[in-house]
Amino acid sequence: MRSLRCDVAVIGSGPGGLAAAIAAKEHGAECVYIIERAEELGGILQQCIHNGFGLEVLGADLTGPAYAQHFINRSYDIGVEPLLDTMVLDVTPQKRIYATSSQNGIVEIEAEAIVLGMGCRERTRGALAVPGTRPAGVYTAGTAQRLVNIEGYMPGRRFVILGSGDIGMIMARRLTFEGATVERVLEIMPYLSGLRRNYVQCLQDFGIPLQLSHTVCEIKGDRRVEAVVSTAVDDQWQPIPGSEQLIPCDTLLLSVGLIPENELSRQAGVEIDPVTGGPVVDQGMGTSLPGFFAAGNVVHVYDLVDWVTTAGEIAGHSAAEYALGRAKPVTHRLRTVAGDNVRYAVPQWLDPEALSLGTQRLQLRVSHPMEHKVRVVIEADGEPIWHRTEGYVRPGEMVTAKLPPNLYDRLRAAQVLRVSVREPQ
Ligand SMILES: Cc1cc2nc3c(=O)[nH]c(=O)nc-3n(C[C@H](O)[C@H](O)[C@H](O)COP(=O)(O)OP(=O)(O)OC[C@H]3O[C@@H](n4cnc5c(N)ncnc54)[C@H](O)[C@@H]3O)c2cc1C
Repeated sequence: MRSLRCDVAVIGSGPGGLAAAIAAKEHGAECVYIIERAEELGGILQQCIHNGFGLEVLGADLTGPAYAQHFINRSYDIGVEPLLDTMVLDVTPQKRIYATSSQNGIVEIEAEAIVLGMGCRERTRGALAVPGTRPAGVYTAGTAQRLVNIEGYMPGRRFVILGSGDIGMIMARRLTFEGATVERVLEIMPYLSGLRRNYVQCLQDFGIPLQLSHTVCEIKGDRRVEAVVSTAVDDQWQPIPGSEQLIPCDTLLLSVGLIPENELSRQAGVEIDPVTGGPVVDQGMGTSLPGFFAAGNVVHVYDLVDWVTTAGEIAGHSAAEYALGRAKPVTHRLRTVAGDNVRYAVPQWLDPEALSLGTQRLQLRVSHPMEHKVRVVIEADGEPIWHRTEGYVRPGEMVTAKLPPNLYDRLRAAQVLRVSVREPQ
């Protein structure tokens, strides 16, 4: 067995992991490994060949691979050491990582600090209850994205997409470019689950119909999908009898959500938030386990890759401070909790001392859309301390609240920060 030691080990080389590894180096960590099971760095971005990446952090409109390459180049320039084709199998609370690679066999890595950056995976049909036979021709949208953009293979010619997640909408446009027909996108909720920007640019601009409050109630076909049956649903998601429609197609794509990839985090004993599916983190992306940090979609599913990069930088900085013994002991932390119409807020823990160093960001997702002016309100132990007006809020679009340093005095003795989205007063 090969044994290695390092200051910071980053698991996963998507935009979150890359940003963390670069930041760890920039903040003084001498030996930083980035461990990636694939044969190249970059994570999911390598299959996202559409543009729209980098507007926030690079001020440029790049494709996924170009955005990833920018950070891959920086990681090489700064001396991050990649361990490619290396799959992490286990992580212990003592910060020992066990991985396997075809070149080195089993590798043990002893790290002073670990950044978890394993990304997320797609919900599959197994996680849904779609009745019918199990013919070929049912894919997740991300698998179809890989087949078309990387393998150069068209999974079908006539598609129905279940779920209005971003990857499904992006694939509706991509498949249309490739000459396929996308019959329609069915969404069980009465509202869009992805970004409105993607609805306009990927469905509306190409005349692809979106049916809200609709789902697939049956898949027809023996060896290959031949049709699906759609149905309207009521507000309890129950099929409305008589609304069924047969839609001939040869492929059904599922775009029904992403799940943070946290088997390793659980094995290590990191506390997981049941709502986000990711580790409970503080403002420095530190988890419940000392020396463990988390970066990117492993924490919660972000809507913009740029935010993944920003959060990765914070995690990498914190990991370097910890590894070099410079992390300040935390004496007091506030718990952030979800109030009216908020599904979750991240970070779940906030050290008020951090405000003395600069603005602190809270990111939240709402439970249901409000298509008119709303107030995002933050209360500390029941007292309003911050608010902002938004034109609308939607579950598919994250809301960011920036807490200014001058709130320090109001927060240093508080216990609970409640975040709510309400009707304007
Ligand atoms: C299938 C799919 C398609 C997507 N398509 C889009 C899109 O078109 N546009 C968009 O904006 N967003 C897309 N996303 C969202 C995307 O995940 C994020 O935008 C972004 O890539 C998240 O960055 P990350 O660093 O958190 O994770 P990722 O980019 O997912 O990177 C995580 C990395 O960790 C590695 N890894 C995981 N487990 C291990 C292990 N045990 N050992 C070693 N390495 C490991 C993975 O191989 C991967 O390279 C997609 C997500 C998925 C799952």
